[in-house]
Amino acid sequence: MVASVSGHQVTSRRLLKGLRELMNEISDAQTRMNHMVTQIANEMVADVCSIYLRRNDGSMELCATEGLKPEAVHNTRLKPSEGLVGLVADGVEPISLSDAPHHKRFSYRAETGEDPYMSFLGVPLLKGGRLIGVLVVQNRAAKSYHEDDIESLQTIATMLSEFVSTSSVMEQLQGFDIKPTQPETLNGKVFAKGLAFGKALLHAPEIEATRFLADDPEAEEARLLSALKDLRSGLELLLTGEAQVQGAVPLEVLEVILLLSQDRNWEKRLVEGVKSGICAEAAVEQVRSEHRAKMANAKDNYLRDRLQDLEELDNRLLRHLSGVINSHVGFDGEAVLVARDIGPAELLEYSGVKLSAILLEKGSSSSHAAIIARAMGLPMIGQMRGLLSRLQTNDPIIVDGNTGNAYLRYDPKLAEGFGSRLTAMRAETVRVQALRNIESKTKDGKRIHLLMNAGLVLDMEHLADSGAEGIGLFRTEFQFLMSNSLPRVDAQAELYSQIFELSGGKPVTFRTLDLGGDKIARFLSHDKEENPAMGWRALRFGLDRQAILRYQLRALLRAADGRPLRVMFPLVSEISEFDAAKALLGQEVDWAKKMGRKVPQNLEIGTMIEAPSIAWSINEISKKADFLSVGTNDLLQFFFAADRSSPKVNDRYDIMSKPALSFLKYVKTQAETTPISICGEHAGRPLEALALIGLGYDRLSMPATSLGIVKEMILSVNFEKLRDFVNSLLARENVDFRQELLGFAQDNGIIL
Ligand code: PEP
Ligand code: MG
Repeated sequence: MVASVSGHQVTSRRLLKGLRELMNEISDAQTRMNHMVTQIANEMVADVCSIYLRRNDGSMELCATEGLKPEAVHNTRLKPSEGLVGLVADGVEPISLSDAPHHKRFSYRAETGEDPYMSFLGVPLLKGGRLIGVLVVQNRAAKSYHEDDIESLQTIATMLSEFVSTSSVMEQLQGFDIKPTQPETLNGKVFAKGLAFGKALLHAPEIEATRFLADDPEAEEARLLSALKDLRSGLELLLTGEAQVQGAVPLEVLEVILLLSQDRNWEKRLVEGVKSGICAEAAVEQVRSEHRAKMANAKDNYLRDRLQDLEELDNRLLRHLSGVINSHVGFDGEAVLVARDIGPAELLEYSGVKLSAILLEKGSSSSHAAIIARAMGLPMIGQMRGLLSRLQTNDPIIVDGNTGNAYLRYDPKLAEGFGSRLTAMRAETVRVQALRNIESKTKDGKRIHLLMNAGLVLDMEHLADSGAEGIGLFRTEFQFLMSNSLPRVDAQAELYSQIFELSGGKPVTFRTLDLGGDKIARFLSHDKEENPAMGWRALRFGLDRQAILRYQLRALLRAADGRPLRVMFPLVSEISEFDAAKALLGQEVDWAKKMGRKVPQNLEIGTMIEAPSIAWSINEISKKADFLSVGTNDLLQFFFAADRSSPKVNDRYDIMSKPALSFLKYVKTQAETTPISICGEHAGRPLEALALIGLGYDRLSMPATSLGIVKEMILSVNFEKLRDFVNSLLARENVDFRQELLGFAQDNGIIL
């Protein structure tokens, strides 16, 4: 049912129509803005209406006014945060005052002649969630603006923002920070090295309102309400499992979004928008812009997360209105994927797009998305403040994953320099790849086995070109993260057979499912946990959901088809867990025999060392396991009590430190003769790998892209000298291991 239309809505519609005519008037931008402020002041019965726009230096310039002195236009500039205009800009929220001159933020500017005005109403001008200016009305009398006035002025502000950001107006408004069009450099933290060119592909793209005013507001309201209905029933179907989840939004988030979609205030704001004459998309855009502007200012993490959920909600509604479901379908050319943050499952969804790099506003270098980026050889930079507000789809970008710089809308001259660096880097890759057939051993003959980490079929092509001796860690959970439903035994077995075939007889260590933490499969329900990395994940999950683990073991045995098989369990925290998992594997072997299937000629069962408790039981577990592999990503997060996914702490503590290295030395020594490798990301960094070799580790598994540089380092090392040096460092106090080892490398001609 479409509700009745109030008096203010009629005014607002009339005003919007009038403003639209002015927008299309054939005159320069200044004249049109002058006419607009006059018209707004008249319709809103205000003595003053002024437009302030933000300049590139952050100051607010008076650009048009009705009521203040005309000479102040383009002369009055308020410093960022100055005066009541600054207050609106800082809070990105409307401010309504009946006694403005006595407000502590009131700033008197004689040139504007504004002393006689008592009341003030200011609303932010927003474009794509960025503050671009402030629209103000003032009255001589002390009056309290009605809620309807505030809403009308917000709608007008949305329309004005559209107007000032059209290209013809922007050409005439030089020096204002309206839409990012100029070259800009943003800096962040390097998560994966490399150099790339590409065009911005926004993970959650803005869906631009193609028109602004609705020809028939009643029909528009009906369209909005029907989209809202579809949105809610669609979410309900997803949650009851009657529809397949598209995209990688976890079920808990969908639940929150459904709740938010039922919020009456949100609906009211949207309906008010269309009632005032704007189209449904523009109403969503208006509300979304307000959410985003608030998100940019929110300090509280909880609030920021809720606002992210709101944004997801707005996006979903826009998709219902426009029918656009998938942003990357049809994207042409090399894409730099741009997102606030991204999970491994979401990243894997881009397998059909030619990605050249990834930029994130948040993120952490030891997250699984970063691990995937490194495995795919994609440069990745994270923690880039303000990234999303500085970019639009298709903006050209150079990503320098060595310095952490991203050059947005770059100068073509810069491209020449980077073009030659890219060529040099490619030549460097070819050069280190040429080492692939050379045996990996130190100058004094110590063999160091180099293996690669994998998780996708497409990783396997690097087995040959990297020269890896095998797969030291196959992350089987990636298949689960890429699926909309639980992969059946057949599908699992098929993937593992393919891996066996592609490995060409080289050993592959299959790690059983390590779900949980930041690896959430969308089809499995998971209670929200305060500390998911220490929660119900990996083998804990497998032992509680034995059917899932047993089916996986069955699939592995079937795929091995009699060939040697290596199975490894993740996040074992107690020996009894390893025993229980091993027993399940034994039952599956018995079952396979009973079914007359071939069983592996050689079945090796190993465990990851990721929990300090098991590192502390290393001697005992070594007697039971055929091999061990240290997952430094997890082990060190627990060792230092520093969450690997938290941008604030993930790189605060260094493996190149006495506590971490002596701990790892203890683990190696206690393992005695049981083969032990390192498969955390540290093994793929030359300086860290140097330290690990010095501790005695001689099996390193890493992203394929790191293999060449690590091998080059190994070929230049004298092992005995290195071992003695590392031991001498461990015996000293107050040592900067990183500096010392760098110095050692330099003095001994070690290539890093
Ligand atoms: C590790 O924790 O070091 C590891 C290799 O496992 P993942 O990174 O998959 O947690
Ligand atoms: Mg791990």
